[in-house]
Amino acid sequence: MTIASNLGFPRMGQQRELKKSLEAFWAGKISESELQKTASDLRARAWLDQKARGIHHIPSNDFALYDQILDAAQLIGAVPERYQALPENGLTRHFAMARGHQGQGVDLPALEMTKWFDTNYHYLVPEINEGDQFKLSSRKPMDHFQEALALGVNTRPVVIGPVSLLLLAKKDGAQLLRLLDRLLPVYEDLFSQLGAAEWIQIDEPCLVLDLSLEARTAFQRTYDRLAKLSISPKKLIATYFGSLGDNLDLACSLPVAGLHVDLVRAPEQLANVAKKLPKDRFFSAGIVDGRNIWRNDLDSSLNQLQILGEIRGKDKLIIAPSCSLLHSPVDKGTETKLDAELKSWLAFATDKLDEVAVLAKAIDLGHTDFPAFEASRAAIRTRSASPLVHNPKVAQRVKSLTPAMSKRYSAYGQRREAQLTLNLPPLPTTTIGSFPQTADVRAMRASFRNGKTDQKTYNTFVAAQIQEAVKWQEELGIDVLVHGEFERNDMVEYFGEQLEGFAFTENGWVQSYGSRCVKPPIIYGDVSRPKPMTVEWSRYAQSLTKSPMKGMLTGPVTILQWSFVRSDQPRSTTCQQIAFAIRDEVTDLESAGLRIIQIDEPAIREGLPLRRSDWKAYLQWAVECFRISASSVQDSTQIHTHMCYSEFNDIIEAVGDMDADAVSIETSRSKMELLGAFADYKYPNEVGPGVYDIHSPRIPTEDEMVDLLRAAAKVLNAKQLWVNPDCGLKTRAWAEVRPALQSMVQAAKRVRAEL
Ligand code: GLN
Ligand code: ZN
Repeated sequence: MTIASNLGFPRMGQQRELKKSLEAFWAGKISESELQKTASDLRARAWLDQKARGIHHIPSNDFALYDQILDAAQLIGAVPERYQALPENGLTRHFAMARGHQGQGVDLPALEMTKWFDTNYHYLVPEINEGDQFKLSSRKPMDHFQEALALGVNTRPVVIGPVSLLLLAKKDGAQLLRLLDRLLPVYEDLFSQLGAAEWIQIDEPCLVLDLSLEARTAFQRTYDRLAKLSISPKKLIATYFGSLGDNLDLACSLPVAGLHVDLVRAPEQLANVAKKLPKDRFFSAGIVDGRNIWRNDLDSSLNQLQILGEIRGKDKLIIAPSCSLLHSPVDKGTETKLDAELKSWLAFATDKLDEVAVLAKAIDLGHTDFPAFEASRAAIRTRSASPLVHNPKVAQRVKSLTPAMSKRYSAYGQRREAQLTLNLPPLPTTTIGSFPQTADVRAMRASFRNGKTDQKTYNTFVAAQIQEAVKWQEELGIDVLVHGEFERNDMVEYFGEQLEGFAFTENGWVQSYGSRCVKPPIIYGDVSRPKPMTVEWSRYAQSLTKSPMKGMLTGPVTILQWSFVRSDQPRSTTCQQIAFAIRDEVTDLESAGLRIIQIDEPAIREGLPLRRSDWKAYLQWAVECFRISASSVQDSTQIHTHMCYSEFNDIIEAVGDMDADAVSIETSRSKMELLGAFADYKYPNEVGPGVYDIHSPRIPTEDEMVDLLRAAAKVLNAKQLWVNPDCGLKTRAWAEVRPALQSMVQAAKRVRAEL
C-alpha cells in the first residue's frame, strides 16, 4: 500500500491561537498551564485532522512552543552557561533562550536568530562549544508520541538530524562535527526510547547544501553508527528545499529505511534518486508544494509517481508534501473575501494533505475518479486561460525590454556632476524612511480601513503627521528629508494593495519566528500599476520644504521575495513585471518634482539560492530588475537604495552592479567592520553606513557616532559617505528618535568640520 505522509503541520492554529496564548502568557495574563492547554489542544486537533484526512505517517514533535531547533538544543542539553542559573523545569529558561530575560538583577540576551534556509522562518541558533558534553535532557519527543497515542494516533516523531544540527549551530558548524562522537549517544538514547514508534523522521536538510568533505564523512559515520542500534524505529531521512545534487550518492548510500526528497524544488532529481536509492529502501516523494499556496496538478504528479513506479516498483513508496507544512497557511476554508475563481486555485496546508492522500489512493486503485482530480483539472484549465491572470499588455511590455531600459543614461561619474545641483554638504544626513508608528497612527489607519473614518478625515490626519515630521526635520537640520511613511502598514502590502495581480487573505498567516506571523500577499496574475501609488503624499511632502524630499518605494525583488508567487512562470518574469510597475512610479515621482528616490531592497540577499552555483543566475536577474525600476530618470535625479543587513562579502559585486547613486546599509553593531567589503571592492558610488542601531531602544551618543563616522572615513573616501541610521524608525518611539537624530546631525557636523 502506498503511504500518505506529512512532514510537519503548522503550529499556530487557524486563528493564531498559539500566538495569542504565548503573548498572553508573556504578558502575565494567563498561567503556564493555560498556555500548555492551548498547545495540547492544537496538537490534538492537528493529529486527529490529519488522521481523518487519510494521512498514514503523521508527524509528532513537529510542534514547538517557540521553535523546533530551540527544542532540539534543549533536547541534547546544549544550554549555554548564562541560562543555567534559571530553573530547568517550567518555561523560564526556555523563553529566556528564545527571547532574552530581564529582571531580578539578571539581563540575559536571547540566542541569536537566523533564517531557516531560504524560507522566511527564523530559527534560534544553538550555541555549541568545543568543550560541551551532551545528554538527553528533555522528554518532549516521547511525551508527544504518547500524547498522540492516547488519542489513537500512532505518529512518526520528527527530529533534526545530528549532522544538520551541528552544521546549523553557531560558530563554525563544520568544526563542531568533531563533537559527533559525544553527540551520537544522545541520539542513540533517544531512538531507543522512541522504540514504540514504527518510524522516525530525521530531518537532514543540510544534504541539499554544498558540503565539505568533512561534513560528508560525518553523514556516513553518523548513520553507519546509528544503524547498529538494536532498538530503534525505522529511520526516514528527510531532505528538502533543493536538490541533493552532488550529495546524491552519499544520501542514497546511508543505511536507513527511507529517504525523502523534494520533487517540487528539484523535480529533475526524481529519476536519479529513483535509480540510485537501493530497492529495499522507502522512497518518500515530496510532490506537493509545502511552501506555496497553489493547488497541485494531480495528473502531472501522478505521472511523475508512475515514472517512479516503473523504475522502482510500487511498494515502498511514500507520498508527501515537499517539506514541512510549517511554511503554508493552515486552511483556506475561512477565507470569505477572496475571488471565488482565485480561491479554487489555492491549496493551504489541509488541502495539501488531501492532495497527498488522494494521490496515494489513485496509485493503489489505479484510477483517478475522485472529485479532487476533477477540481485540480478545472483549476489548471481556468487558471491558464483566466483574464484574472493574463494581461497581454503586461506580457508585451516585458517582451519589449531592451538593454537600454536597465541602464541609466550616463555613468556614475557624470551623474554625480549632474546631481551637484542638489547642493548637499559633505556627509549629508538623512533617514531610511519611516518615522515612529505611534498608537495614534496605527489606530487611525485601522479605523480608516474598516470604514469608521472617512477619506477626508484620514487625509487630514496623515497630512498633519507629514507636516509635523517635515517641520521637525528642518529644525533639526537634516539635509535630505523623508515624509515618514505614516500611511503605510507594511512595505510590501502597501504596494501590493495598489497593484493588479495581487490578492490578500484574511487568515493566510505563516509563522516567521516565535509568536510572529506574516501574511504574504498572493501574486496570482500579471502585475501592473493602474495608477500612481505614492506620488500624492510625496508631492505634498516636497511642497512643504525647499530641502530635497526622498520619494520612498519598495523594490521589485523585495516585493517578490515577501509574497507567495505564481508557479506558472519563472520568478524572474514576475519580478520583471513588478520592476516595470515600480519604474512607472519612479518616473511619476520624478515628474512630480522629487529629485531623490529611494528604492528599498532589503530582501535581495535573502533571495540567494542555497547552492553557490545558482547565485550568478539569480543575482543577474535580481540586479537587472532593480535597474529596470531605477533607470528611467535623468542623470540629475538621485537614486538611493537600502539594505538592512551587514553581510556584503558574498554580494558586493552585485551591489555595485545595481548602480544606485547611494546605498544605505546596516553597520553600527559591527562598528563599521563590514565596510571592508566596500573598500576592497573599491565601491565607486555613495554609501550611507548606519551609525545608529535602531533595533535597540538604546539612544546612541554623539561621541559614539562621531567615532563611527571617523572609522568609516578611514575605509572609504569621505566624499562618498552619507550619515543615516541603520534602518527605518517605525518600531521606535519618538522619545528615542528625537535625541538620537539630534545627536546624529551634530556628529555629522563635527566630522564635517574635520574634513
Ligand atoms: N523605508 C523603509 C522604512 O524605513 C525600509 C524598511 C526596511 O528596510 N525593512 O521603514
Ligand atoms: Zn532596513
